Amino acid sequence: MKKYAVITMDVEDWYHTYFPRDDVEKSVTLLDGLDVALNIMDRKNIKGSFFVVGEIAGKLSDKLKVMDLNGHDIAFHNWQHIRPVDISTRDYKEQLQHGRQILESILGHAVSGYRAPSFGIDDERFAAVKELFQYDSSMIKPQRSAKYGQVHLKGFTEVFPTIYKDNGFTEFEVSTQSIAGLNLLLGGGYIRMLPWMFMKWMTKKYLETGKPYVMYIHPIDLSAKPIPRVKGIGFGRYLRTHIGRKTMARKFMKVIRMLEDEGYEFVTFEQLRKMDLSNG
Ligand SMILES: [Zn+2]
Repeated sequence: MKKYAVITMDVEDWYHTYFPRDDVEKSVTLLDGLDVALNIMDRKNIKGSFFVVGEIAGKLSDKLKVMDLNGHDIAFHNWQHIRPVDISTRDYKEQLQHGRQILESILGHAVSGYRAPSFGIDDERFAAVKELFQYDSSMIKPQRSAKYGQVHLKGFTEVFPTIYKDNGFTEFEVSTQSIAGLNLLLGGGYIRMLPWMFMKWMTKKYLETGKPYVMYIHPIDLSAKPIPRVKGIGFGRYLRTHIGRKTMARKFMKVIRMLEDEGYEFVTFEQLRKMDLSNG
C-alpha cells in the first residue's frame, strides 16, 4: 500500500478560536503563522490543503492566488468560524454557497474542498456539503470534547484506509491515534502541547500502519507573535492556545522528517481525491 501524507491547515486568525465573539481586537493578526508553514513546506517542495475562513479570504486574496498557482489546494472553512451545528441548515447552506463563490472568484476556478470549524457538523448539514463540494475533511473519530460533531457517512465505502467515497464525493478522515481509549489528534494543538517524545512515539505508532497521514494545524500554532488576551477568557484556556508555540516550527519540521523517513509521499486532498486508490 502506498503511503500518503497530507499537510492541512485551517486558515483562520487567532480570534476565530474565540468565536463567535465580536469584542476581540481583530486588527491584530497572527496569520504570519501561515507564512511560517509555507516557508517550511516550500523548502521541501511540499504542497498542502488549506481551509480558508471566508470572512478573511478577501484580505488574503493575493496570497491565496499565489498559493494556488504554486500547487497548494485552497478549500473552504465556513464563512465565519462558527460550528455548522450552531446555524440553521438553511443559513448554513447559504453561507456555503456564498463562501465558495467568493473563493472561486479569487482563484478563478472551482473550489472542491471543505472542512467544518471544530468538526462541528451533523448528517443533515453534511448533506449540504455533499451537494456543493467534491470533498470534505470534517470527519474525525469520536472525541471527548462536546464541541465536536459526528458524521455517519451513510452509503459511503472505505476505498482506502480512512478515505471514503460515495459516487463522486470523497471524505478524508483526520488522523487520530487511539491511546488508552482516547482518539488523540495527530496534529494541531497536540503537536504543540504534548511533549515531543510522546508525540513522536504516537506518530510513529500511527505511521507504522501505513495509513494516510493527515496533519491538522493552524496559523496560531506557528505564529511568532503573542496572542492577545481576551476579557473573560480564563488563563487555563489562554495557556492551551499558547503553550509550545515557540518550538512548534521545529516540531513541524521533525514530523515532516519522520514522514519522509517512513516513505510517505506528500500530496494534497485535491490530488488524492482524483487518484485511483483501488489498487492500493
Ligand atoms: Zn477552524
